[in-house]
Amino acid sequence: MSTVTDIFGSMVFDDSVMEARLPKETYKALQNTIKNGKQLDSGVANVVANAMKDWAVENGATHFTHWFQPMTGITAEKHDSFISPKDNGKVIMEFSGKNLIQGEPDASSFPSGGLRATFEARGYTAWDATSYAFIKDGVLCIPTVFCSYGGEALDQKTALLRSMEAINRQALRVLRLFGNTDVKSVKTTVGPEQEYFLIDKDLYDKRKDLIYTGRTLFGARAPKGQELDDHYFGVIKSRVAAFMKELNDELWKLGILAKTEHNEVAPSQHELAPVFSTTNIAADHNQLTMELMQKIAKKHNMVCLLHEKPFAGVNGSGKHNNWSISTDTGANLLEPGDTPYENAQFLLFLCAVIKAVDEYQDLLRISVATAGNDHRLGANEAPPAIVSMFVGTELEEILEAIEQDTPYGSKERETLKIGVSTLPKFSRDATDRNRTSPFAFTGNKFEFRMLGSASSISCANVVLNTSVAEELKGFADRLEKAADFEKELHDVIQETIRDHKRIIFNGDGYDESWVKESAKRGLLNLKTTPDALKHLLDEKNVKLFGDHKVFSLTELEARHEVFLENYCKVINIEALTMLDMARKDIMPAMSAYTKTLSESALKKTELCSEIDCTYERENVKDISLMLNAMYKQVKKLELDLLTSKSIRSSEELADYYKDTIIADMAELRVSADEMETIASGEMWPYPSYGELLFGVR
Ligand code: ADP
Ligand code: MG
Repeated sequence: MSTVTDIFGSMVFDDSVMEARLPKETYKALQNTIKNGKQLDSGVANVVANAMKDWAVENGATHFTHWFQPMTGITAEKHDSFISPKDNGKVIMEFSGKNLIQGEPDASSFPSGGLRATFEARGYTAWDATSYAFIKDGVLCIPTVFCSYGGEALDQKTALLRSMEAINRQALRVLRLFGNTDVKSVKTTVGPEQEYFLIDKDLYDKRKDLIYTGRTLFGARAPKGQELDDHYFGVIKSRVAAFMKELNDELWKLGILAKTEHNEVAPSQHELAPVFSTTNIAADHNQLTMELMQKIAKKHNMVCLLHEKPFAGVNGSGKHNNWSISTDTGANLLEPGDTPYENAQFLLFLCAVIKAVDEYQDLLRISVATAGNDHRLGANEAPPAIVSMFVGTELEEILEAIEQDTPYGSKERETLKIGVSTLPKFSRDATDRNRTSPFAFTGNKFEFRMLGSASSISCANVVLNTSVAEELKGFADRLEKAADFEKELHDVIQETIRDHKRIIFNGDGYDESWVKESAKRGLLNLKTTPDALKHLLDEKNVKLFGDHKVFSLTELEARHEVFLENYCKVINIEALTMLDMARKDIMPAMSAYTKTLSESALKKTELCSEIDCTYERENVKDISLMLNAMYKQVKKLELDLLTSKSIRSSEELADYYKDTIIADMAELRVSADEMETIASGEMWPYPSYGELLFGVR
């Protein structure tokens, strides 16, 4: 039997494979591309491509694909086989440098927000050499960016790579100011914790809402939910354990560092966390993880639900984006150091994050805004929609002491002098686990907890990287010019704390009082996706992305359009699915049920006129009332959907879906759920919440 160390990375064209299979010069040139972004010349590319193909074929691959991440949030691939015909009627396996470096998918059907008129629909894909190629299902997958012919980003990866360059540039400037000359590059790192549900496939197949929308649109609460907390960290059922084992094996083969797995709070909810890696790799790996979760669940006759809110009344799923900044020399810049100088540097990076989160609250909220995630944020189970930061009492006291120039620490009671005083080491446990905070410092990294479970992590990290790059830039601009570095450093840190401490909140984010307090502090409370998206094109945001070359105005406008369109489409599909379920299944079933009851009452009376038929009569009455109410709501939803067709602007349309359609859907659900509660289980057309949530045994 092969061990984990044997299989780990066995399907990845990683550094060790490159070194073993490439001529020394080619290997060096490729390393130069990977590490320093040097362009690969076509001769070298041909050698690399050939070695890659040989390795892939030896490992069972027959096809290759440029693997990319369009703005649909999932990955895309179009397979081409390696075969090339020979004169003698045979074929050889071929793969050229050109095929490796660039591809031209006919991609007219991907969302582009108007960037690509269909007559010039061919975008192109270009190899991202910083992420290793891998084999999946007999296909050599080459991670690529996806752009229009004009060079505009049409995907998630391009902006992420650009934002990593931005923070690298600015962080290096800051490090140089602290006399650090050996660091050559700075990268952000991410460990995304992924939540998901597993439900039985036979039950799933009976629910149109799950099939079409990924979540239940109807469903009365089961007698039992998550109130006993008996699922969280509970014993993993053998069917789930078998799934997790196979998932781990497949992830490990792809070099994905799957590490922690456990049951989550809601029944049938689980989590997987990898060891952190460089952000763009973490983003690629998270996409692959989501894909494999879904694929492997099917093999175990289960379905993996990645939707943010598959079930009402129990927790939804998110993704915790653990984020930090580290150097190629192995230092974590968000970890307090051992010397006063390292501490000062830590405080400056910390201040950059504080300032960024405060100034770009809107963008952070936008980066996690989807129709699905709107059900979670602010629902007392996930962080509130108000962005704030948790730093823990220890660090907050330090920041306060710096701001006020007051003594800190119980022993010495000295004034903290930046660059002179040593900071205490924060124990990881002292950084209390405030689960209600959207953005928490956890000792040596930040945990951004607002991400939805189904989305790519790219968007959130683009905003984090770029906004922190911007603050580092501002700091570097000031410090580079300063006559007295230490004094200026002190002032920068002090001013930042003073001006941005409003974003720091260590209390309970679920508490009603926080909503009021945060409003007093002037913090934003962008409850829904359309509310949040209204800020995307604000001048300061356009400037931020423009200055750091992450998004041009055109690209940003295109994204704005794609996000709005996606929101409207998702809700439209949900509304249509509800109508379909109501008209085709629920109402006929309930009408039939009243018929059964009426017939039963008639039969009983026929048998003996004295028999009391209260049960049948009352139920027929109640259900008929609810059925009529439901029918009225169906008609209203249909009418309102019709009205939506006349709305031309996407912004107005999104508001209309948010205010009118979602309200209609909620009302429609109430009458159906009421009926489900009292109707016969046998006649209800769908598996119940109880069956779905407790169905995997
Ligand atoms: P938790 O108790 O929240 O699960 P862990 O220490 O287990 O905390 O970390 C959760 C995630 O954070 C893991 O994916 C881990 O790899 C990641 N992580 C740890 N250090 C860093 C770092 N420096 N940068 C990014 N992510 C990190
Ligand atoms: Mg965590």
